[in-house]
Order: sequence, then structure tokens, then C-alpha cells
Amino acid sequence: MFGLIQDWPLRLHRILDYAAEQFPEQDVVSRHADGQTSRTSYAALRCRALQVTQRLRQDGIASGDRVATLAWNSARHMEVWFGATGLGAVYHTVNPRLFPEQILWIINHARDRIVFVESMFLPIIARLIDRLPCLERVIVIGDETTGAALPRLIGYEEWLAEADAAAEWTEGDERDAAGLCYTSGTTGEPKGVLYSHRSTILHAMAVSSMNGMTIGAHSTVMPIVPMFHVNAWGLPFAAPMMGARLVMPGARLDGASVYELMEQEGVTLAAGVPTVWMGLIDHLRRNGLRLSTLRRLVVGGSACPRSLIEVFENEFGVEVCHAWGMTEMSPLGSVGSSKPVLDSLGPGSRLGHKEKQGYAPFGVEMKIVDDDGRRLPWDGTTFGRLAVRGWAVVSGYFEDDTAVLDPEGYFDTGDVATIDPHGYMQVVDRTKDLIKSGGEWISSIAIENLAVGHPDIAEAAVIGLPHPKWHERPLLVVVGRDGTAPDKDAVLSFLSGKIAHWWMPDDVQFVEELPHTATGKVSKKALRAMFNHYAFP
Ligand code: ADP
Repeated sequence: MFGLIQDWPLRLHRILDYAAEQFPEQDVVSRHADGQTSRTSYAALRCRALQVTQRLRQDGIASGDRVATLAWNSARHMEVWFGATGLGAVYHTVNPRLFPEQILWIINHARDRIVFVESMFLPIIARLIDRLPCLERVIVIGDETTGAALPRLIGYEEWLAEADAAAEWTEGDERDAAGLCYTSGTTGEPKGVLYSHRSTILHAMAVSSMNGMTIGAHSTVMPIVPMFHVNAWGLPFAAPMMGARLVMPGARLDGASVYELMEQEGVTLAAGVPTVWMGLIDHLRRNGLRLSTLRRLVVGGSACPRSLIEVFENEFGVEVCHAWGMTEMSPLGSVGSSKPVLDSLGPGSRLGHKEKQGYAPFGVEMKIVDDDGRRLPWDGTTFGRLAVRGWAVVSGYFEDDTAVLDPEGYFDTGDVATIDPHGYMQVVDRTKDLIKSGGEWISSIAIENLAVGHPDIAEAAVIGLPHPKWHERPLLVVVGRDGTAPDKDAVLSFLSGKIAHWWMPDDVQFVEELPHTATGKVSKKALRAMFNHYAFP
């Protein structure tokens, strides 16, 4: 017997309808390429998104068609997302930091019919357009006076002005596809994760919840994580759903620009990867600045070093919340919010828990398993492959038949983790980055996170390299702060006593720069290639 409750499909347009009705005046601030800011409201954003819906319809875009975006975080980018999904089409966020050949591959694989391009990324499309037969239109958002002579090119405002007046959303099944995001494909071709309206809405509710990122109508939220990096972690949906103000930082993500916008707009919550926060700390310290409105930082995408938590909490009075996730999880998998059980712990243990990646919100189930798929205990020390299932977790990739779930419906994250008796998960490493030395495992993340606590180290990465006796041994590769190379022995003695002696790197190498992936993480693959011919002393 079914319940007698209305079937109210979880379609994304409902978020904007709600925000426009309950929080019509609430701001969405965008900073543009020239540094100027503009503001709109949820009511205005809804009107514009409806126009996009109507205009796409006039272009013959239909339910299920893909529409690409190559753009920074802005209100316009949001209009395009809501406009596309408003008629049942699928927005496909393309990461402009990918290699052109990868961009070519994914746009062709997705068979995008239209691409919305921020003008600064137009040269990327200009280089590829002859090999993108699926693209019917290139629509330039942002500064539209680029004068580029591309076929099929039109300015966003000019295109939008042609929308018929009467516009309405298309209703449909909540399980319809809404968004598409490709993983960066460190092995093999990129893989497309296809979110549904339902998964996106449920995910946004988990993101905004008290145990999640804690977003409400009094929050001013700044997603520094780009919309092309797993939907800016769901914040462009969570914020309007909760009536929060949104501050979209555009292209400038250096410490000074982030600080300036945060202070100007009274940001209370911001989310981004650790490197952004390192940049902010640097700027604050160098200039003796304080953060007057920021209450909470959400740090994820790669492991958050203990030193980063300590500096923000002790020096700047900002609560740091460590989160973990991945493209295949929409992305939120865990958040390090507190639980009552932590209240009785001393500051040291509390910090130890903050350093972990946190516990699963409602809607995510986790397990750690051995290589044979047997469940391992949640004792905080046994580590195993981390697998997940839930309402916003992938069930298969776009146009790819590979089975990705185990018999219980869990997806293998490719991470190795521990889970403690309180449910707090800690990522030990990516499976492929764990270092096997003398039959035991060494966590590269643990060493890196300690190393960046050294005052002269700006960035650190640890890779396992072949060793005749131990199979593999860790090599620590560091970038010195301000171009200096700290003394090798000083670095090693800094680590000594903080990690098991057999975890100590066999050597420290100094480089000017570490290789990064398109999502801003250290590319261990490229780093291993750089040290291909290296031999331990
Ligand atoms: P990409 O492979 O393109 O970086 P994702 O952004 O989906 O794709 O990356 C997901 C991976 O990033 C996770 O599987 C995990 O290895 C890593 N990751 C994300 N957040 C954290 C975190 N807080 N701590 C450690 N690793 C993290």
C-alpha cells in the first residue's frame, strides 16, 4: 500500500521557485574578470533562468540534451544551470584547466549541442571548434566584446534577448538527468557522472544541514571551489534552498582577492581546497589582517593539514570543517562536524578528530573492506578500501557499460581509510598512492600533512619509489616558501618523532613547483614520472 502523500517531484527549478518566493531580495554577488562586482537577487535570477529555459527551447534543445559550460562561478553560470535543467536538459560543466585534447574528448563524448563560454576561455574553444561537430552554438558569457570571429558564436545577452516572453519550466521525472561532470581520468579516459534532479536536491539538503556545512538564511556563502569542480560541492543549490546569500568569486582565487571579497561582502562560510586556504593564511599574516565576518571554513578535495586547522582556529578564530568526497558522490561523502561524544575529549583528541575527514551525513553509507571484500572493523586503526552507497552516489558512468558496484550496491572510492568507533573516517591514502615498504603500508598523506607544518615548506608531496630491499621507500618532494630550500636535515628532524621511524622519507628533494591536476591536486602520476630515474642515496 502506498502512502497518501502528494508526489512532488524533486526537480531543480523548485529550488529557485522557493528562493524567489521566500527570499526574493536575497543577494547573489558575482565578481567579474575586471574585478568589479555586480549583484542580483534570487527573484531576478529566477526570471533570467526562465528566459534561458525558453531561449534554449527556441533553439530546439530538448529534454536530455547536453549543454556545456566553461565558466567561473557567477550568477550567470547559475542561470544557465537552472535554465538548462528547467526544460529537462543537462548542464555539463567542463573544467577549463583540462588539456585541450581532454576538453575535446569530453565535449564530443557528451555530444554537447551548445557551449556557454566565459570570454577568457574562448581561445580554448576557438582552437577546437573545427573538431567539435556536435556544437551548434557557442554563447559567450561575460565580456562579450571579444571580437572573435568564430562560426556559430553569439553573445549571451544578445541570444537571451530573443527569448519569447512566455516561459515556464518543464515538469518531469525527478530521476531525469540534470548535470554531467567528468572525472579527470587519472587512469584511462575521463568518465562522466550523470546527476539527477533528485540526487542533486537530496545532496543539497545534506550539504546545508546542521551536520553538513550548516547553511541557513543568515549565512553568506562563498563557494571558492569552482562550479566545474563537482558542482561547487552543491553550494549553488544549497544556498538558494536555504535562502542564504551567495558570493561568487569568479576567476581571482589568490589570497588577497579572496580576502578582499570576503570582507567586502561579509562572508560567513566559505568552501575550497587546502591550497586556497594556505594562500589566504599567507596573505593574512604578511599584512597583519583579521577575518571580521568569517565563521566557518569547509576544506576538502584533498587532505587538510593539521597546521591549517590550528592556524585558522587558534590565530583567526575561524572554525575549520574538514570534508571529503568525490565526483562520483555529488561530491559530499563526509563532514567533520562535531558529535556530542567529542565534547568530553581534551583539545588534543578533538583536534585529532578534526583532522579526520569526518562522518557520513544521512544518505551516505560507508564500509571499509579488505581485498576480498570482507568488512573490516570500525576501530580507528584497521584500514581498508572505502566503499559507499547512497542517494547521490554513482550507479554507473555515462555511456559506459562498466559495472561499478559490488553485490551490496557499494561503489569503491579508490581511497583507503580507517573508521573509528564514533564513525569518523580518515583517509589513509588513495589506493594507488599508498607506499608498500617491507610488507607494511605507509600513508603518503600523513607525511605530507606533517611536512607542510614546517614553516619553510609551502607544499609537499610524498611518493613511493622502487627500492631493492624494501620494495618501495618514501621520497619527500617539497616546494620551499618564498623560493628558499630548507635544509634537508632540518626537515627530517622536524618529522622525526611525529611518525614511525620506518615511515621517515629516505630522502628530501626540493623543486620549484609540484605538478598539479586540473582540479588543483598534486599529480602523483606526473611526480612519479619526474623522479622516474631517481635513485635513493
Ligand atoms: P579527481 O580525481 O578529479 O581529483 P575528485 O575531485 O572526485 O576527482 O577527487 C576525489 C578524491 O579526492 C577522493 O577519492 C580522495 O582521494 C580525494 N579527496 C577529496 N577530499 C579529500 C579529503 N578531505 N582528504 C583526502 N582526500 C580527499
